[in-house]
Amino acid sequence: MQSLLHIRGIFLFLLLLNLWCYAQQDSLEQQLSKCTNDNCRLKVYKSIGEQYFLEGNYKKSLQAYNSSLDIAKNLDYTGEIADGLYNVGLLYNRMNNSAAALNNLNSALDVGSNAISPSDKGKIYIEIATAKLALGQYEVAYNYQLDALKLQENAHDSVGIAQSLYGLGSIFFHQEAYHNALDYYQQALSAYQKINDKWSIYACLGAVGSTFRRLNDRNSLVYNIQALNLANEIGYTGGIGYSSLNAGDDYLSLGKPKKAIEYYNEALVIAHKLQDNQLEARILQSLGTAALNQHKPYEALPYLNQSLHLARLLKDKMLIKELYLNISIAHEENKNFEEAYINQKKYIALKDSLINQTTADKIKDLRLQYESQKLAKEKEMELRNKDRLIRRIATVFFVVVIILSLGLLWSTLMRYRSSTSANKLLEQKNEEIKLQNEQLAISNRDLEQFAYIASHDLREPLRIIGNYTDLINRRYRAVLDNDAQEYLYFISGAVMRLNNLLSDLLNYSRIGRQAQQPENIDLNEIVDIIVATFKPFIEDLHASVEVPSPLPVIKGNRSQMIQLFQNLIGNALKFRGKNKPKIIIDCQKIGTEYQIIVQDNGIGIEKEYLAHIFVIFKRLHSRQEYEGSGIGLAICKKIVEQHKGRIWVESEYGQGSTFYINLPISVNEFAVVESNG
Ligand code: ADP
Repeated sequence: MQSLLHIRGIFLFLLLLNLWCYAQQDSLEQQLSKCTNDNCRLKVYKSIGEQYFLEGNYKKSLQAYNSSLDIAKNLDYTGEIADGLYNVGLLYNRMNNSAAALNNLNSALDVGSNAISPSDKGKIYIEIATAKLALGQYEVAYNYQLDALKLQENAHDSVGIAQSLYGLGSIFFHQEAYHNALDYYQQALSAYQKINDKWSIYACLGAVGSTFRRLNDRNSLVYNIQALNLANEIGYTGGIGYSSLNAGDDYLSLGKPKKAIEYYNEALVIAHKLQDNQLEARILQSLGTAALNQHKPYEALPYLNQSLHLARLLKDKMLIKELYLNISIAHEENKNFEEAYINQKKYIALKDSLINQTTADKIKDLRLQYESQKLAKEKEMELRNKDRLIRRIATVFFVVVIILSLGLLWSTLMRYRSSTSANKLLEQKNEEIKLQNEQLAISNRDLEQFAYIASHDLREPLRIIGNYTDLINRRYRAVLDNDAQEYLYFISGAVMRLNNLLSDLLNYSRIGRQAQQPENIDLNEIVDIIVATFKPFIEDLHASVEVPSPLPVIKGNRSQMIQLFQNLIGNALKFRGKNKPKIIIDCQKIGTEYQIIVQDNGIGIEKEYLAHIFVIFKRLHSRQEYEGSGIGLAICKKIVEQHKGRIWVESEYGQGSTFYINLPISVNEFAVVESNG
């Protein structure tokens, strides 16, 4: 009851599917009528052909594909012509017209030699192999199938590879090499499962099931039922028919003839409906075998003869061969030994013609060859992959090296740029400093000019003030009261001081104003002059001036040297400490210079003022503490620099000071020679 419901369900489903297909075709026909050009018609005819093909209506599919082929020829579209010829060839194969199939497939190869891809070429080979197989040319079929497999493998076309594997399985199946067939069918099955191509999975399940059946393996039922379910799922009517037939065969071998016959009848309905002679012939053969199993040879023979009739129409040699054997057995059961013998002979003859041992051996050889070739190819691929990997690593390495080098180059360039820009900046700064120095020199010159003019010109009115103050003092002293006399005294003091100041300033500004050639100066002589000048003062103070070793003769300006030593020794006496003043004048040769030192044991100078005391008018004490104008050391500095030398002081506050003068040994001319004075 349940199976009846199941069958009814299937019928309902098929009916709906047919209705849908009908509607679909209708809409395609409508589309066709709406087409205004051949391009459109070509597309629609191909769709119609595909639709009928899936439905299992090969005749109508062939008509549609033939129409599409005619249009493609009209349009002279090489690719489309090849495609059309292929589809027509494929359909002839399904319709067991191997000769027509080969005709079209070979034409497809000729036409599309340049226009089709290797993978499409492989697909044509597969169909040629199918046709050759049907014609019993197993070796040729095998070669085509193998070539197709190679093409598909090279093109990495997984669908094509699966098709070839299936085709190879079929060849071995026909040769009754069922283990090999099973191997290929199962490979094809897993290939199709990977890409989830349900129609092809169905075909493989059926093929694996049938092969197990031939090997008397119970697994066949599992596969055939799976195939049947899948055919129902995808609505493949023809598939339902074949799978029902296969399942029936399985039940028969399991000793369940009734169940088997149920399935056969289901399949027969479909075979009639689809007018599929192939299916019908096989069902009739199975019904005959079932009768034979039940020891009813008289019932078996009509089925088998009917099947043989159809098989002859179909030129299905394999089926014919099997039927001869079945008929022979039936006659044997029926005790008709003569007929049994005749059919047995026919069976053996056909079997021999089909499964020739040398052909089988050749195919075996070819297979071994192919497999060893494949292995070698796989090894080569592995090597090539390794090679490619090494090359890739090397490329990556080189790219990294190049990038690093470029980076290095870039950073060097940047550094070079920044250094050149830094250099430029430095040059610019130097230029600025030079300019500032020049401006400073100009302003110094101006200042000296001003100091000279001022000190020189101011002395004149100052002298008049001094003279008249003296005159008033002398002439009117008697009439002046004490206050007035004191005021006059202050004026005289100020005039004197101002006069000294102007005189010092004049001295300062005069240094270097007149061009003079350097002369040899014995420094011992200079020191003697100064000591002689300060003699009364030195004696008063009980001071000592020591020259531990003879001083050198230097090149320079004599009067300036006198001025230099006068100022330094004068200061040493002036800024004396509590002890008796002790002045040491010494000299040593350091490299290309003489280093002259003037050391005292005076009050010393605080560290913070050491650098400032050489600045003009800079004084560290008030006039009340120590007389002076603050020009003395500025004059010293100017004189030393005039002689291309340096002057500095080192001191310990309260302990005394040491003045250092470094002069170049040979001075041929002065550093600054002012000639505009
Ligand atoms: P002046 O002696 O007219 O004040 P200088 O230019 O000769 O001016 O000296 C500047 C200042 O340097 C002085 O006022 C003094 O404070 C300090 N000075 C110079 N020579 C000595 C020295 N030998 N010992 C201590 N202080 C000194």
